[in-house]
Amino acid sequence: MSQHLTKEYLTQLAAEFGTPLYVYHAEKIKEQYQKLTTAFNKSNTVFFYACKALTNINILKYICSLGANVDCSSINEVKLALHAGFPPERILYTSNGIAFSEIAEAKELGIIINIDSLSNLDKFGQQYGHSYPVGLRLRPNIMAGGNLKISTGHDKSKFGIPVDQIDEILALVKKHNLRISDLHIHTGSEIKDVEVFVKGIEVLFDIVPQFKELEFIDLGGGFKVPYKDGDVETDINLLAQKVGEAFAAHPNPGGRPLQVWFEPGKFLVSECGYFVTQVNVIKQTSAATFVSVDSGFNHLIRPMFYDAYHHIENISNPGGEKKKYSVVGNICETDTFAWDRTLNEVREGDYLVFRNAGAYGFEMSSNFNARYKPAEVLVIDGKAHLIRKRDEFKDLLRNQVEVI
Ligand SMILES: *Cc1c(COP(=O)(O)O)cnc(C)c1O
Repeated sequence: MSQHLTKEYLTQLAAEFGTPLYVYHAEKIKEQYQKLTTAFNKSNTVFFYACKALTNINILKYICSLGANVDCSSINEVKLALHAGFPPERILYTSNGIAFSEIAEAKELGIIINIDSLSNLDKFGQQYGHSYPVGLRLRPNIMAGGNLKISTGHDKSKFGIPVDQIDEILALVKKHNLRISDLHIHTGSEIKDVEVFVKGIEVLFDIVPQFKELEFIDLGGGFKVPYKDGDVETDINLLAQKVGEAFAAHPNPGGRPLQVWFEPGKFLVSECGYFVTQVNVIKQTSAATFVSVDSGFNHLIRPMFYDAYHHIENISNPGGEKKKYSVVGNICETDTFAWDRTLNEVREGDYLVFRNAGAYGFEMSSNFNARYKPAEVLVIDGKAHLIRKRDEFKDLLRNQVEVI
């Protein structure tokens, strides 16, 4: 059964905590995680939550309690994960153009590491040789993902070591006697076609025989979730079946069965999130009826940055006549959330809710226009908890050094 928070409840939270407000529903995260573990229950598969989607410490603790592992994109995410209670062996640091000092720090902390450049692999080998296992982030040269900004595996992408540089990789492995424990690919976000993962497996299996100490194959994240009516979710059951078949067809020549890893971000936390805003102003023009809410791309950048569609609902007037609106923000920059969108009649003061706001919502927010970042609330077991206070004026000056 799918878990949703009701209009009445969201209205109550908006009144209690104020707007703009991010609300997360813990049980929805659990539902998504269980979809994954149920589909893959017959295979040796582990899920690492790609926490850059949403790093509130309570979300990390909750996901830790579900039994998932965690995938990090910076050393600070690694430290947040440790703070949340993940033991080092459940934390993966998939690097991307980072300074070697962060890799060294992660190693000291006992974190699992994926390296994405020949240069850092060489440095790693010089420092640690065979003493510490390490994974390779590879670029499979596959085009996939919802749009170019979120495609990471194609042949012009900066991410990973291109698989065509396998000779250079093997030379470094030999030179330093590296212990390569996993091969990683992440081809992009919003991948609905499971064949993309199968193609990735094929690319990896071509080179698997070269790595005698391999234990894991990491297929990255990028599972799609529905944003609008008619959208599909990546078919996780089909994915489990296809991955199972692909692995059955390629027994590891090294002998040991390989464990499969995935790194879902959006899949776990997108739908748990609701972004609640309030209407400041309604402006009639010849081009459109503009609805300005008390937010902007400073709080939810996905529509402007990725042309992303977020379903919007007027929870204050659910029975109102349907009309067309342009929903915009209140910052001094064009910040259209939705153009020509049908909503129940909107009045000033109404609450508008943006769905699918859990992933890359708060996490990509800023203080542009010296606006406060929103508060965050976590609903768990039917109880709402404030998990981040709204900024206050002093937060805008924090860290500024007044020299004049
Ligand atoms: C962002 C990212 C993910 C998660 O992507 P989603 O589309 O949110 O599932 C997984 N792995 C890596 C390495 C990433 O950078």
